[in-house]
Amino acid sequence: MVLDTTTLRIAFGVMALVLGLLFYFSSYRATRSAYSGWWCLALVFFLVGAAAFLLNGTGHQWWANILGNVLLVHGGVAVWAGARSLRELPPKRWLFTGVPVATLVATAVDHPGTNVWAGGAVFLASMCLTMGLASQELWRLEPGYSRVRVPMAGAAGVLAVFYFGRLVFFLVDGQDGPIFTTYFGSAVTTMGTMVLLVVVSFSMAGLSTEQQTRALRMVASRDDLTGLLNRKAFLDLAAGLLKDRAVTQGTGALILADLDHFKAVNDTHGHAAGDLALKAFAGACQETVRSTDLVGRYGGEEFVLLIPGGSALRAEHIAEEISRRLAQVPTADGLEMPTVSYGVALYDAGTSDVEDLIAAADEALYTAKSQGRNQTVHSDRRI
Ligand code: GH3
Ligand code: MG
Ligand code: MG
Repeated sequence: MVLDTTTLRIAFGVMALVLGLLFYFSSYRATRSAYSGWWCLALVFFLVGAAAFLLNGTGHQWWANILGNVLLVHGGVAVWAGARSLRELPPKRWLFTGVPVATLVATAVDHPGTNVWAGGAVFLASMCLTMGLASQELWRLEPGYSRVRVPMAGAAGVLAVFYFGRLVFFLVDGQDGPIFTTYFGSAVTTMGTMVLLVVVSFSMAGLSTEQQTRALRMVASRDDLTGLLNRKAFLDLAAGLLKDRAVTQGTGALILADLDHFKAVNDTHGHAAGDLALKAFAGACQETVRSTDLVGRYGGEEFVLLIPGGSALRAEHIAEEISRRLAQVPTADGLEMPTVSYGVALYDAGTSDVEDLIAAADEALYTAKSQGRNQTVHSDRRI
């Protein structure tokens, strides 16, 4: 059975059009996300690019051929830019200008009016490059994008390998060679690309749901006033970290912090000043800890920090540093930032319960309060 390239290209165009419209209305208009915009753009490039090749064999072939190659390569670049946008990275300029311009020049000087494969090698290499880069970007997505990462990176990777095969056989077998025309020709490519477009569009639609879920989860896990983790999110993440011994290196410290005489701040300067002090404390914590440490608002004016790998000495330094930063925060209207009391509990490889750890730190914190506040006390319990 010989597949007729023209019919396939028309089918491809219709499919790209339908997918593009569906994607535009169901995903892009709802999310306005960058990846969704890039994917719509890529579909438009593929659609118009494939349509341009329908003019092969007519008097318009010379320009349609150049346009087709350039647009398809632009489609590849848009796919790569979309993949990058998922990691919140901007597209690189050289890919947008360099690669399509190279394709344009290579096609234009290769007699596009008579040669349907004008600039073929550069075109195939460009498609292989853009798809390969897209696959690499998608592969690097964080594991949170579990459901869509593998099918999309896989689809782009398969296309990159296929274009690499096309390039090799185009060069060694020639554009009319039996292997190239049978396995790597336009008909096979068009059909294969159709399948992959469906896979990617389907995954992309799943992606918008996944992104929305992540955004909601983000809102649900934060304390509105300070932006720190809320109690539940802290407990969940801390439980996860305690399980993950590769990160915790077996041991670590938990610090419970409570602002001293905080009620007096509210009573003297008003609730807004109290809120300001809470935010300032949260800021001091975030400036002091590492990105692998967890900081949460445990409730009211109590905060909790988990320092994986942290020793008693490091916990003490962190507490001192937070208090030092808090005291330095500029204030108005005679407001003085409160001092802070800290309770520290250490954990080792055998610890699995966060609540026990917090209870031990809380006991130490109570001692710090009863000994006059503005100090750090270590729990002597080994959890
Ligand atoms: P201590 O040194 O023993 O910890 O005394 P304290 O005054 O800090 O402790 P207490 O538990 O008596 O008071 C805590 C106060 O924190 C009471 C509550 O109104 C205030 N508070 C809790 N949450 C917030 C908040 O979100 N904003 C403000 N401004 N105040 C809050
Ligand atoms: Mg207090
Ligand atoms: Mg308290």
